[in-house]
Amino acid sequence: MAQPRLLILGAPGAGKGTQSANIVDEFDVEHVTTGDALRANKDMDISEMDTEYDTPREYMDKGELVPDAVVNAIVDEALSQADGFVLDGYPRNLEQAEELAEMTELDLALMLDVSEEELVHRLTGRRLDPETGEIYHVEYNPPEDPEIEERLVQRDDDDEETVRERLSVYEENTEPVVEHYETEGLLERVDGEQAPDEVWAEVKETIENAA
Ligand code: AMP
Repeated sequence: MAQPRLLILGAPGAGKGTQSANIVDEFDVEHVTTGDALRANKDMDISEMDTEYDTPREYMDKGELVPDAVVNAIVDEALSQADGFVLDGYPRNLEQAEELAEMTELDLALMLDVSEEELVHRLTGRRLDPETGEIYHVEYNPPEDPEIEERLVQRDDDDEETVRERLSVYEENTEPVVEHYETEGLLERVDGEQAPDEVWAEVKETIENAA
């Protein structure tokens, strides 16, 4: 099978990062994630792009979208170096979806469905080990080692107020993207509230059937 080219769609906290990692291992594709790319470049100077704020940080800390010109450039650069890929966190609005259509063709847009209450619970309880990058959850997946537990940190934008803002930004901007791919016949939905292994089994099968 040729390397698949797919999007993983879903609200913040739906499990896109976890399932993308599985997809990368199984199908040997690039993981292109705008959230990670922006977190690694939070303080880059974007003032020349005629933006409201001078760095991505200001947008991200408020839970708002970083301007399209910035994220489109990140994705264009990453895709120019990839045969197969899983795009995670992009496109977030219809303008980005249109830009993406100019850059490449897709095999599949995979949507992870999770209810809002569950998303808030997952995100506000999410913790990160700054030394290994490992993700934990205070209730669902706490570390066994107390030393690790002590050094866990919360992502700047995982407090409840910012989480609610991110979910409402998602609803407003990204729901039209989901409808867009549905109309194009590329959308497949997976129930993201199942256990991670069950979600993965469905995701894998869906990709195998699409590519
Ligand atoms: P994420 O890790 O995907 O939840 O992204 C974290 C933050 O990065 C978002 O709240 C936005 O501020 C920014 N971001 C990530 N991807 C995009 C995108 N495609 N368009 C605009 N902003 C983005």
